[in-house]
Amino acid sequence: MGVPVKASVAANWSFDRLHSLEQLNFDNVYAALPPIFHSRHSPEALENQFLIHFNHEAARLIELDPDQGRRTDFLDLITGLKPWPGTDPLAMCYAGHQFGQFVPRLGDGRALLLGQIKTRAAQRWDLQLKGSGLTRYSRQGDGKAVLRSTIREYLCSAAMHGLGIPTTHALTIFGSDQPVYRERIETGAMIMRMAPSHIRFGTFEYYFYQNRYRDLAKLGAFTVAHYFPHLKQHKHPVLAMFSEVVKSTAELIAKWQSVGFCHGVMNSDNMSIHGITIDYGPFGFLDAYRAGHVCNHSDHGGRYAFDQQPRMGLFNLSCLAQALLPLFDDQPERAVAQATHALEQYPALFDQACLDLKRKKLGFEKPLDGDDEIYDELLVLMEATQSDFTNTFRLLSEPGDKRAALRDQHLNIDAFDQWFGRYLGRLESEGYDNDKRDQTRSNKMKTVNPKYILRNYMAENAIRAARDEQDFSEIDRLMKLLESPFDEQPGNEKYAANPPGWAERLSVSCSS
Ligand code: AMP
Ligand code: MG
Repeated sequence: MGVPVKASVAANWSFDRLHSLEQLNFDNVYAALPPIFHSRHSPEALENQFLIHFNHEAARLIELDPDQGRRTDFLDLITGLKPWPGTDPLAMCYAGHQFGQFVPRLGDGRALLLGQIKTRAAQRWDLQLKGSGLTRYSRQGDGKAVLRSTIREYLCSAAMHGLGIPTTHALTIFGSDQPVYRERIETGAMIMRMAPSHIRFGTFEYYFYQNRYRDLAKLGAFTVAHYFPHLKQHKHPVLAMFSEVVKSTAELIAKWQSVGFCHGVMNSDNMSIHGITIDYGPFGFLDAYRAGHVCNHSDHGGRYAFDQQPRMGLFNLSCLAQALLPLFDDQPERAVAQATHALEQYPALFDQACLDLKRKKLGFEKPLDGDDEIYDELLVLMEATQSDFTNTFRLLSEPGDKRAALRDQHLNIDAFDQWFGRYLGRLESEGYDNDKRDQTRSNKMKTVNPKYILRNYMAENAIRAARDEQDFSEIDRLMKLLESPFDEQPGNEKYAANPPGWAERLSVSCSS
């Protein structure tokens, strides 16, 4: 007779094992591509670097032991002051359409892909250090990132993740005493971010516009092999991949619209082939609802206004389609027809994703004709009253009479009453006709209408405390707050209020 085997003993096998920085499973496949794809550089550490924050949740994604963030040599390792075995730092080359104009060579001008990690579940993660110094692609830039923009990116990637919106993640941020010159003197900082890859629409554009079709084909095959392996056997793998990118991009932008997120610089070099949000710069969440809100003060023409984002998504996908044409088919006419067909799916994919989210935000389960109009009419009312986007939907999620405050906000009470009557009628058609059912509706709506978003003024307060007093506690508080944006968080109510008056004077631009 043997000894009985107990399942409970096996519960914590090595599958859960977390690594030290040296033990991470690096698999640097991008570095193995020919030199045309990248340029090798070492990071340039900053003067008197100090850790600001370390993201435990992000660490777990790459199977890194969160305690590693406490190592005294942590920053030395990631900034190259001490060798980090397994890494092979390089700047990636790419092009892109910036504000509609093609720029033939951009590339990582202030970032380095330190290495790529493959987890036990075969998930790939790029570790990218931003603000790491000059590269071959720095052009007129200094290769640096400043504390202000680094904190904004760090907080926003966590906020988006909390909202369930695909995004790059950020593992850590750190500051320094090194002056960096922008509109005024700031200090240098860096952020380590993570994404399945940093392949952008513009990465393909670079090789296409250089007429380097062999390299383009290499990049296409590489991308499919590592990131779309389920398409390897497809008759037209790159075309199939493009169709997936069309879908993921449409769904991503529908999600942005549903939480009032404005990216601010939707250039084709800031669009990821993974359909994730990337490159947080002059982004902003809507406060008062304005369809044409422009969050980036450098965007004088309003190209990337909130209501233009869906259209800009399609523009960028067309740029990508153009660059991929030679990989779609040998015959140009056929390639164009295939690209056009794939692009034509975008409006319907976006509309469907949007409509699904609108229904959820309004608390409807069964789809009915006219749901779109109910949502859009509410937006018209909100715009007329300058209602806060987030708080309006949160208030609408409340049960019964708790919603009464909504009415008081509206200037045109008759129009609001008419809309609300129609809305209640629509809810009744769902069977939400008693208190218990209404509470169910409320609970459900609160899982899609966040209570807490990262408003500009919140990031600004965290930045000021960090910059002026080396106090990083507000960053920590916001990271915790934004991890669960849908939950009621007693004690954090102040973050759910409408923004203070001074928030209106805050301006964010491309300078970072
Ligand atoms: P972004 O607006 O951050 O998406 O950057 C657009 C392009 O400018 C990218 O190629 C960046 O690498 C480059 N870039 C932005 N800021 C700097 C900088 N301070 N130094 C060097 N390159 C930069
Ligand atoms: Mg960028």
